[in-house]
Amino acid sequence: MGDDRLTVLLVEDNPVQARLIEGLLKRSTTPAFEVVHVDTLARGIQRIEEGGVDVVLLDLILPDSEELETFSRFYAHASETPIVILSGLDDLKLAGRAVEGGAQDYLVKDRIDGPGLIRSLRYATARARARSAEWHSPMFRLAQQQFLKAAHLMEMDDNIRQRLLFPERTLLVSFPFRRDDRDQVETVFGYRVQHVLAMGPTKGGIRYHSSVNLGEVSALAMWMSWKCGLMHLPFGGAKGGVRVDPTGLSRSELQRLTRRYTGEILPMIGPDRDIPAPDMGTDEQVMAWLMDTYSQQKGYAVPTVVTGKPVVLGGSEGRKEATGRGLVYLVEEAARRTELELEGATAVIQGFGNVGAHAARFLADDGVKVVAVSDVSGGLFNENGLDLEAVEAHVRENRVVEGFGDADSVTNEELLELPCDILAPCALQNQITAENASKVRCRILAEGANGPTTLEADDILASRGVFMLPDILANAGGVTASYFEWVQGTQNYMWTLKEINERLRRAVTAAFHRVTARAERDDVDMRTAALIEGAARVSQAKLSRGLFP
Ligand code: GLU
Repeated sequence: MGDDRLTVLLVEDNPVQARLIEGLLKRSTTPAFEVVHVDTLARGIQRIEEGGVDVVLLDLILPDSEELETFSRFYAHASETPIVILSGLDDLKLAGRAVEGGAQDYLVKDRIDGPGLIRSLRYATARARARSAEWHSPMFRLAQQQFLKAAHLMEMDDNIRQRLLFPERTLLVSFPFRRDDRDQVETVFGYRVQHVLAMGPTKGGIRYHSSVNLGEVSALAMWMSWKCGLMHLPFGGAKGGVRVDPTGLSRSELQRLTRRYTGEILPMIGPDRDIPAPDMGTDEQVMAWLMDTYSQQKGYAVPTVVTGKPVVLGGSEGRKEATGRGLVYLVEEAARRTELELEGATAVIQGFGNVGAHAARFLADDGVKVVAVSDVSGGLFNENGLDLEAVEAHVRENRVVEGFGDADSVTNEELLELPCDILAPCALQNQITAENASKVRCRILAEGANGPTTLEADDILASRGVFMLPDILANAGGVTASYFEWVQGTQNYMWTLKEINERLRRAVTAAFHRVTARAERDDVDMRTAALIEGAARVSQAKLSRGLFP
């Protein structure tokens, strides 16, 4: 059905209310609404299954179902159709919970007016369409739903909420690079997404992975906005990526790919515009090639166009380890709060890349026994603690942890269920879900990866008393040290490792206290508190800049 005509399924048992809504919708012509009215949940579900409904208006109190139950039963049959909740003034908390659970919005019955109603239905439909078209991605859905939850709880300005739900700028390119076998040219997809341009230059890493797509990059860009907001950094969020498996590429192929990708995104980046950094599948070397390609175009060296570059090119001391180091500073704070003695405590780490391997090492420095680590090849478990130096040496030689002698092997799934004090998922997204969250047996969950836990899993973990260090806080040490690197670059003045680490500790500790204070004040979980802290700053900045023209 086109944009000019929307079919609304109105599930409402109060005939007066239903007539009122139908009356308001009838008056609209752009879009025109066709209203299908039913008065029980069972009939609503039956109608949605017949298809052709664009958007649903759902009353939560119906003759055959009440409260959140109504929403979850309906949602189970209509997760792809946008749902707007009709709520009584007394049931606002309930409506909020439904928004957390996947509803697009809610309207307060006594306050419904024509323009507000039409706007809400239009936005809900447009959002759902964008989600099923170019932003079709579970990860982007997770990022949006997390944000909607926080926006609802903090009563964010409605106009700002709509602006922040999608990135402001996206670039999607397809481009070729030559394989080592010179006759072979590969064409791949590349992305650069800038979520918020109001705060200063945008900032965020570049990911090379076979799962990269527009939705994933957009979700990661959105998280960068909240992360920078939470850390009080003068950046908006961005992210980039190429859909390619870098492990299958030689060094020279990786270099050609990087240079061509840089050429494609060149108009979008720059030291005052948008500053890339490493992320999954990229490293210091990739940043060096990126900086070189950009500098060649300008005719002079521009080190500040990227962060996370080699120290000899103006990279910062301590940047490489900063994500892992920041995570461990935060675990120290969390341990103090939960009265966990770190000396002799146990840790399980998923992922042995730049974040996981450094986190493991710094935890071990604190006297923590790292009993398990993993990578794409699987996991290692030794209840007496792994010899991390030996594991690192093994990985240097064999690229993967597989085949390391002094440990039992476990799968990545089994690893997440090992009993431990600290669990740090430092690999991929979507690892702790409704299926396995009840089997996670840790006291502190420190999310080194972006988006490793789903919303349903969050609830389960919270009910089991797990102390959560959410991704936008737990892995914020990386972008914080990136900020230090950028400041040093723009001032042409270098700080020592000691200075970097002290500043890093101060920055993440202050953010930790902001988040715990917010969690207590608003009676929300740590993730929501972190999101609110980050999003509030972005929202304030946008409001103070006002609207052009
Ligand atoms: N890719 C990292 C992140 O997700 C670092 C970004 C940066 O340093 O700009 O936070």
